Parts: sequence; C-alpha cells; structure tokens
Amino acid sequence: MAITEINCELTRRLERIAGLELRENEPLARHTSFGIGGPADLLAIPHEPRALCEAIGIAHEMETEPVFLGNGTNLIVRDGGVRGLVIRIAGEMGHVQMEGEQAIVEAGAPLAMLCCQCARKGLTGMEFAAGIPGTLGGALIMNAGANGGEISDVIEWVEVADRSGSISRMASEELSFGYRRSTLRELGHAIIRARLSFRSGDPAEIHEKLCDTLSQRCARQPVSSPSAGSIFKRPEGDYAGRLLETVGAKGMQVGRAAVSMKHANFVVNLGGATARDVMGLIEAAQNLVYEEFGMMLEPEVCVVGED
Ligand SMILES: Cc1cc2nc3c(=O)[nH]c(=O)nc-3n(C[C@H](O)[C@H](O)[C@H](O)COP(=O)(O)OP(=O)(O)OC[C@H]3O[C@@H](n4cnc5c(N)ncnc54)[C@H](O)[C@@H]3O)c2cc1C
Repeated sequence: MAITEINCELTRRLERIAGLELRENEPLARHTSFGIGGPADLLAIPHEPRALCEAIGIAHEMETEPVFLGNGTNLIVRDGGVRGLVIRIAGEMGHVQMEGEQAIVEAGAPLAMLCCQCARKGLTGMEFAAGIPGTLGGALIMNAGANGGEISDVIEWVEVADRSGSISRMASEELSFGYRRSTLRELGHAIIRARLSFRSGDPAEIHEKLCDTLSQRCARQPVSSPSAGSIFKRPEGDYAGRLLETVGAKGMQVGRAAVSMKHANFVVNLGGATARDVMGLIEAAQNLVYEEFGMMLEPEVCVVGED
C-alpha cells in the first residue's frame, strides 16, 4: 500500500478508539518548545492509557512505528515533519494519584505540576525539577535532571507499552539510568505511568528551594525565548556552556537560530527559525569546539522527522 493509503486506513481504525483525539497534517511546531517542526501526517492524543495502548496496537498491526511526543521540550522536529503516526502523551494523560509518600503518575503529567503537588504536601525529592518544562514520560526517557538531582532518584517502577501495545512493568534497577540516558530510550517503548517515592520534609524549606531554583534559572537561562533547553550533554569533567563560551559561540547565528547571549549551551529561535537553521548551528558550534579542544560535543536534544 502507498503511504497515503496506509494513513487513510490507519485514520479510519484509530477514529474508532474512544478517548483518542486525532488531527491530520498537524504542524508539530505547535507542540515543541522551539516552535519549530513540519507536520505529522497524523497526530493522536490519547486521553487515557487504554486509548494509548489500543492506538499502539493498531499501528503495530499496520506495521507503522509511531513517534512519541511529550511536551516537545527536548525535541527538534525536522522541517519535513513526520510521516505516519505521532502520539502525543501529554495534557489529559497526566493523572496523579498521591498515596502518602508515594505517587502513581501518568506519563503526560508535567514535572512542574508534580513539583507543586509535592511541595503542597511537604514531600521532598522533586525540587531539582523546578523549571524543567517536560512531562514525566520525556523526563524518564532522558533521565532529566538538574542541580544534582535526577528523575531516576525518585522512581520505583515504570509501566510501559511495547511496540505491540502489550503492557509490562519495569523496576527502576532494570532501567540502567545514567547521565541523560536510560534503557527506556533504547527500547522505544511508550511510557504509560510510573510509581514515584518521596520523603517527608519541611514544607517551608521545600518551598524556598523551589523558589531559589526557579530564580537561578531565570537569571542564567534564556527562559523567555523558544528553545529546547541545553543543546549538548555535559562532557566528562567540563561544561558544554563553558567550552562554547570560550570559543566565542555566544551570539553565533544560522538563519533565525542563534546561540543565546545568556547561556552558550542554549540555542534560541529568534522567530521564524527552521530545524535546518538549528541543525546547521549545532554543527557549526560542535566544529568550533572540536577545532579548539579536540572534543566532539554530544547533542542532548532528540531529533525526529525528515528534512
Ligand atoms: C527552558 C528549558 C529548560 C530545560 N531544563 C532542563 C534541565 O534542567 N534538565 C533536563 O534534564 N532537561 C531540561 N530541559 C529539557 C526537557 O525539558 C527535558 O528533557 C524533559 O524531560 C523532556 O520532556 P518532554 O515531555 O518535553 O519530552 P519530549 O521533548 O516531548 O520528548 C523527549 C524524548 O522522549 C520521548 N518521549 C516523550 N514522552 C514519551 C512517552 N510517554 N513515552 C515514550 N517516549 C516518550 C520522545 O519520543 C523523545 O525521544 C529543558 C528544556 C527547556 C525548554
């Protein structure tokens, strides 16, 4: 079958799933913090885990591998967009059930909401995530972290759906969490929900820590400009931002994408940037650092789609 025929048949079958919102030819720029990205042939937004698993199962039967999306805050979608199916796990699939010092959290829950709920209940463990704009699902794939904390510190288990839509539960120890990596990224499973474990703390201290972290972010990072956070991972024994600043990358521009003047490890969209601009800038910055220090910076951002 031609791609258009497959997409028509896929749409027809997915339309029958209750609790699954479907949008055809949806610009993914609307769903990334960069504000960049071509269209998805078909964007599905499950409102509950059952709808997500059914959609994955149907895609599998039709030999289509969906691309998963959370809040799109660590993502570059190329300008040609994504052929086939994109499943956005965010918004309504973000239910949080607190049980004492534990919580069962759906993958689409924003980290910001979790930080607030924990602070309100006097639970410590999530303060590191203040100001990280992603979902729990995206954070698990990346093992998102900051200020000495990582999401893996609070995870007990993760429930995933494999490519056929079958659900299984993986204990934290099985997930080989490391610096901005986890087995989950390699497996390509959809993250459905996870059990998180916190500790009781002093509500005033937790609140103060959240406020400090947020104000430090505002002072050091270009938080009001569209970006995808840190572009490069921290190299062993150094900081990507320091290396980039030393080679004069701040202010460097390709098209409408620029290296932030505030933080050299952030690329910002000046308005109208394309994914090609961003990728060109990433390569140019990588080359500058390589020529000066003989070190190839490794991108932290995920890239999907076609040129
Ligand atoms: C201003 C700013 C500051 C940031 N600061 C930090 C920081 O301090 N520390 C840090 O670690 N990150 C930071 N980030 C990056 C980003 O917010 C985190 O990596 C976040 O955890 C990504 O979550 P997301 O929902 O946006 O994922 P997305 O960007 O949507 O996706 C990231 C990856 O996860 C996959 N994915 C997402 N959800 C699922 C799911 N449910 N199932 C399977 N796969 C899924 C996607 O396919 C993709 O490969 C920052 C970003 C911005 C814009």
